[in-house]
Amino acid sequence: MTAAVHTRWPGILEAYRRFLPITDHTPPLSLCEGNTPLVAAPGLSREIGASVWLKLEGCNPTGSFKDRGMVLAVAKALEEGSQTVICASTGNTSASAAAYAARAGMRAVILIPDGYVALGKLAQARMYGAEILAVRGNFDEALALVREVAQRLPVTVVNSINPYRLEGQQTAAFEVCDALGDAPDMVCIPVGNAGNISAWWRGFVRYHEAGKIRRTPRMFGFEAEGAAAIVRGEPIAKPETFATAIRIGNPASWTLAVEAVESSGGAMDAVTDDEIAEAYLRVAREGVFCEPASAASVAGLLKLARSGRVPPGATVVCVLTGNGLKDPDSAIRLGQATPRVVDCNLAAVETALAGGDA
Ligand SMILES: *Cc1c(COP(=O)(O)O)cnc(C)c1O
Repeated sequence: MTAAVHTRWPGILEAYRRFLPITDHTPPLSLCEGNTPLVAAPGLSREIGASVWLKLEGCNPTGSFKDRGMVLAVAKALEEGSQTVICASTGNTSASAAAYAARAGMRAVILIPDGYVALGKLAQARMYGAEILAVRGNFDEALALVREVAQRLPVTVVNSINPYRLEGQQTAAFEVCDALGDAPDMVCIPVGNAGNISAWWRGFVRYHEAGKIRRTPRMFGFEAEGAAAIVRGEPIAKPETFATAIRIGNPASWTLAVEAVESSGGAMDAVTDDEIAEAYLRVAREGVFCEPASAASVAGLLKLARSGRVPPGATVVCVLTGNGLKDPDSAIRLGQATPRVVDCNLAAVETALAGGDA
């Protein structure tokens, strides 16, 4: 029998066209986003007594899940005759907006919190040629500003308050169902602005209605403890966490996210920076390098497991939202392998590997 070989993936607008608000006038924008790997995590599975899968959203074209919503938001902006997209961002939304705007020949204006964007994300925005405004404020303040600017100038906001973002982001849930043949039992997702968990849930509901899956999963969202507005039940004026992608104190999709966890029988919880750091290293031991915010999903799963809330044998998907290379500073700070400087000869290498002084 001939094994299946690589086939061309067209990107999510074409692949999931019938589930998306696409018309004959929507331009066929694509950087071949989506179709990200669903990788088994045997170590975590053994430890937890469940079947744990990692959805590697960091394998999207700009290294995060944001591309799924951005490709649709930018295509629709083009369709509607807009020439400029604008967003506030902790980094990944801006990288994605800049890339798709470049592809579409549009202007991209991005507002980022000065000093709180991971290095790789900043590098991306610069390369794709966005107009970058580093504001003296946090993400929530930058988003409020973007909303104001959009009322005065002819720009399209491509933050997740743009409904097309969540529509596009549903496709990750579709892919998981397509890969597993049904929905998993549980999904664990990091929560920042709370759009992604809402989109995944909508995707499962949509697939269920379409008869593609027999059940829907329980949705578990995890905020960073220093930015856990939903868990605490009130906005946080000065959110703090080293997981900068979820350093958000007043999530835009708050209500939708609460609906997602409640109607799915899941929960929203918080994980500490220490728990996030531990999970960040734990995931790397599976051979997967994600950014700190992404590890909140695994930190959350480990927390659920410790309190006996993961049924034995359950199928669990942890969404690893962004690529580890986005945030080299965190990796250098927390990564446990330290380079040893040795002389460049065989004896020095042999001595070093034998545990001696090089
Ligand atoms: C945007 C982002 C999140 C948070 O997603 P929300 O939809 O804002 O809740 C988590 N992790 C990474 C890597 C992100 O880029």
